Amino acid sequence: MSLALLAADPARTRGRRFAEPPAPTRSDFQRDRDRIVHCTAFRRLVYKTQVFLNHEGDLFRTRLTHSLEVAQLGRSIARTLALNEDLVEAIALAHDLGHTPFGHAGQDALNACMREHGGFEHNLQSLRVVDRLEERYPAFDGLNLCFETREGILKHCSRDNARALEAQEPGGVGHRFLAGTAPSLEAQLCNLADEIAYNAHDIDDGVRSGLIDLEQVAQVPLFAGFLREALAAHPSLKGRRLLFESIRLMLSAQVYDVIDATRQAVHAAGIAHAQALPQAGVLVRFSPAMREASTALKRFLFQNLYRHPQVTDSMARASAVVGDLFAHYVQEPPAALALRPGDSRERAVADYIAGMTDRFALSAHKAITGRAVFD
Ligand code: MG
Repeated sequence: MSLALLAADPARTRGRRFAEPPAPTRSDFQRDRDRIVHCTAFRRLVYKTQVFLNHEGDLFRTRLTHSLEVAQLGRSIARTLALNEDLVEAIALAHDLGHTPFGHAGQDALNACMREHGGFEHNLQSLRVVDRLEERYPAFDGLNLCFETREGILKHCSRDNARALEAQEPGGVGHRFLAGTAPSLEAQLCNLADEIAYNAHDIDDGVRSGLIDLEQVAQVPLFAGFLREALAAHPSLKGRRLLFESIRLMLSAQVYDVIDATRQAVHAAGIAHAQALPQAGVLVRFSPAMREASTALKRFLFQNLYRHPQVTDSMARASAVVGDLFAHYVQEPPAALALRPGDSRERAVADYIAGMTDRFALSAHKAITGRAVFD
């Protein structure tokens, strides 16, 4: 079956939580993308950590530039596979809206603070941002996005959280985590584009930071192949340009691999109509060889970059900032704290802290404690 017939169709969206008249010139997925680009949480991504803290350098990826790269890779693959580019772009631009300041360290610290109060999880928070926390429209909270966009944003979900979502919205975006079904091909594509993007840009940022070097990365089989290819075509290439050319070749090869492997998987699954997609499992995928190579690269980055003493030291300090802010605001709620019906004070504080940029969190922390955590 042609992939185009399996693409999400805005004319057949499962709709928005609050009915709205259609936009005269845009599809529902285009409209979602536009709402995301204009929302406050999106602008905050520019000052949120991807791996390196915002003050560590101007050229490292932030959540915003990461999201743009995921959208670029996703759209590029979607166009070739004839999937819906607008939906891919909307999901990609929104997928990290729920991230706390200071990356995964911030999320882990906030989750620890919220242990007795329902926990904190950045995917669920991204959904919460677009469903509840954005305050832009007269008639509803959130951005009132289409089901398909919300489904893609909720990339992972624990069973407990899925049950809670299901209770509020039966058969909604939590359902697939209980039923074990697959989301749209566009949502599947965004997951993989996310992985392709961060593997590539974390090599670039890691080498730029000096925490890893080209010789080390050259020991990762996937990267080594492209490094050899770059040198074979340009024998005198070295330094940054050699790094960029090798990453460029790796990105292209991964994109082509996803396109071929996905076409094969869809063909092999023999799906007769789009309605059969949820039962067909994840079809947007790497070939087995590329899956293995990409996982090995992830492992390398984990061991050598994300676990580098300088990164873990920054992250430990950042975790302490989040813990201090939480303890303080629960005792003394800030004037800006919005207490929504049905939410605990702790949840409101978690929303408030999760919405902070790195630098806002650091200056709030300094104002409270009188201490500069980074100087
Ligand atoms: Mg991401």
